[in-house]
Amino acid sequence: MPWVKIDDGMPHHPKLFAGGASLRGMFLDGLCYCARNLTDGSIPLNALALVSPGTPHKMALRLIGDLVRVGAWAVKDDGWEIHDYLKYQPSKEQVLSEREWNARRRGLYSDTSLLGEVRSRDCDSCRYCGREVSWKDRRGPRGATYDHVVPRGPNTVENIVVACRACNSGKSGRTPEQAGMQLRQPKSELDADLNLSQNGASSDPATRTRTRTRTRTESSTREEGALSPGFDRFWALYPTKVGKQAALDRWRKDNLEPKAAAIAAGLERTMAYLTREGGKYECNPATWLHEGRWEDQPRDLLPLAPKTQGNVDAARAFVERHRHA
Ligand SMILES: [Zn+2]
Repeated sequence: MPWVKIDDGMPHHPKLFAGGASLRGMFLDGLCYCARNLTDGSIPLNALALVSPGTPHKMALRLIGDLVRVGAWAVKDDGWEIHDYLKYQPSKEQVLSEREWNARRRGLYSDTSLLGEVRSRDCDSCRYCGREVSWKDRRGPRGATYDHVVPRGPNTVENIVVACRACNSGKSGRTPEQAGMQLRQPKSELDADLNLSQNGASSDPATRTRTRTRTRTESSTREEGALSPGFDRFWALYPTKVGKQAALDRWRKDNLEPKAAAIAAGLERTMAYLTREGGKYECNPATWLHEGRWEDQPRDLLPLAPKTQGNVDAARAFVERHRHA
């Protein structure tokens, strides 16, 4: 769930000051709804009951009327829009890309075979300054870290290198070129070259290239077998992060990778339902996949109960009145 940013001067804002706590409460509820459901500031008519739980419908409409009057919300065809929402809050695209990146970053530390490969290639040497790093040092500048050479790039043996903490934080989310740093040859390759020349063994460059190419091909095959980019995307999107291994097993068993795009689209479509009322309707990700829930019809398209329908009709009439006012 993304956080909502609130200016600490909000209670004194001229638009919201006179309305008192209840008006500001409605304003906050609206912000939370938009952030939770990634709507970029839109509030659909039929979502009104979800926006401010516990507020009687008539009172909610009255408060919304006040918010519209002071210009904090605007009326749209199918609901409302919070004024300047994207000026202060991250967009849906930003939130999703951040979630995906965080999932990938966390995933790196559980991919022990990838990390083992990176460490055996780079040994305990920083790929930027060449100095020895310490895996026990959790704070100091010589402490060992893993760096994505291309920031926010994939978790592959080509894109992950060992770096000292000083170089990693100096590079800070930039490519080596942007940071004016150079990626050195891996320590294991330097050592191998040194051995070759010391033993007088053929410094035949073709032999050395062959050896390196083989190592690289083997590792690429391993990655292709191990990675499921579609699953990574699903995992980044799915709101309940429990039972990842079970979900991945299900993904592989049902061969869901080719359906990844449809699954992501289905999840986004039903996200508002899944995450409503503090996640009461979320289910275990493995179950969600097993039941093919990405094909569910979004609940807001299902027929509404008569009372809810009455509320939606009242909200619609309200919007109509304001549009023609
Ligand atoms: Zn370094």
